[in-house]
Amino acid sequence: MSIVTRFAPSPTGHLHLGHAFSALTAWRRARAAGGRFLLRFEDIDPGRCRPEYAAGIVEDLSWLGIDWDGPIRIQSEHLRDYGAVLDALSERGLLYPCFCTRMDIAREIEASAAAPHAPDGSPVYPGTCRGLSADARAARIAAGVRFALRLDVERAVSGPLSYEDETDGLVRCDPMAFGDVVLGRKDAPASYHLCVTHDDALQGVTVVTRGEDLRPATHLHRLLQALMGWAAPVYAHHRLLTDPSGRRLAKRDRAATLRDLRASGVSAGAVRAMLE
Ligand code: GLU
Repeated sequence: MSIVTRFAPSPTGHLHLGHAFSALTAWRRARAAGGRFLLRFEDIDPGRCRPEYAAGIVEDLSWLGIDWDGPIRIQSEHLRDYGAVLDALSERGLLYPCFCTRMDIAREIEASAAAPHAPDGSPVYPGTCRGLSADARAARIAAGVRFALRLDVERAVSGPLSYEDETDGLVRCDPMAFGDVVLGRKDAPASYHLCVTHDDALQGVTVVTRGEDLRPATHLHRLLQALMGWAAPVYAHHRLLTDPSGRRLAKRDRAATLRDLRASGVSAGAVRAMLE
């Protein structure tokens, strides 16, 4: 079977060397196997994504010599598809509306003795809105209180699950550790977890190559695949690039953006060689 890989950046800034490494890893992998390499913009966050960053990504990847197969999938153009998944999960009683603000959640966590953190480092939602009665929910919705949709993870998990990691083999999933994650945001009928799993399945991605930092999220993604009957790809988590002081490269490190390197006369070949 021919492999399909992808690079799925969020256009919230210019690409840095860490992104280039991620893109090259997936692209080299596909090309070496005679497979397909897809590009997808994960731009569902209206507050942070900008068209000029998306255009910059196309420019930077082209400069690096990376080509992709088929059109770029732009998530913000498919919000209805994600909404349909939310509807399907809602009908099965697996989602509930959450009216909490960030402040409410922080207060609640502060007041409770236990404040567990999810494997990705975020605090676990204390479940405040899970037990609201149907009447209380209806009243708040009627009053126009904005809400997010959370997965009732305890209901959603019905048995053991594992995902296939290229280096670690079969990994036992622990999606409960994330608590009731948001699958539909207040500002968009979507969330990163929902869109990424939906699109990997829709686009027939067989090998998800992405940074180590997203390894914990894979546990949750596997649960969504199981709930929706989507095929589970193999996961290949790659190392994260760091600066000389050992800090992970991030968008704030302007010096490491591809456009700055290009402007300072560094060649694409040199960048590619650096990221072997
Ligand atoms: N859009 C995500 C990011 O830019 C990556 C998603 C993924 O590779 O699964 O961090």
